[in-house]
Amino acid sequence: MSAAHSCIFCKIVDKSIPSKKVYEDEEIYAFHDINPWAPIHFLVIPKAHIPSMLHLTTEHQALMGRIMALIPQLALEQGCNPYPEGGFRVVCNNGTEGGQEVHHLHIHVMGGPRPWLRG
Ligand code: AMP
Ligand code: ZN
Repeated sequence: MSAAHSCIFCKIVDKSIPSKKVYEDEEIYAFHDINPWAPIHFLVIPKAHIPSMLHLTTEHQALMGRIMALIPQLALEQGCNPYPEGGFRVVCNNGTEGGQEVHHLHIHVMGGPRPWLRG
């Protein structure tokens, strides 16, 4: 997928749109959600333009495994309280009926003391 296409999260990855970075490596980028539902709310995305989980293939297994293993580490670094009293919520919306608005695969990570705005 070319960097010139209109995906907002690809533009965040290539830094043509600013974001508040949480983490970055060769394959993964994480940044604060612009409209947080919880005291801590960030998004973890593959740098590659994968529209949704419905587009995952066996070639993405290692990448998705790395993302899932990274999330608890980033959640604690961002201030989520320790398990079991603390913790965090992970949400991944897929497709319109799944509530997905940005069609570049992203995992919401939400935590911090309740009540939250949503959920
Ligand atoms: P979803 O409904 O799962 O597609 O969620 C998309 C999320 O992306 C929403 O929570 C938005 O607040 C968030 N979002 C949209 N644009 C930006 C942006 N420029 N920077 C950070 N988060 C964004
Ligand atoms: Zn994209």
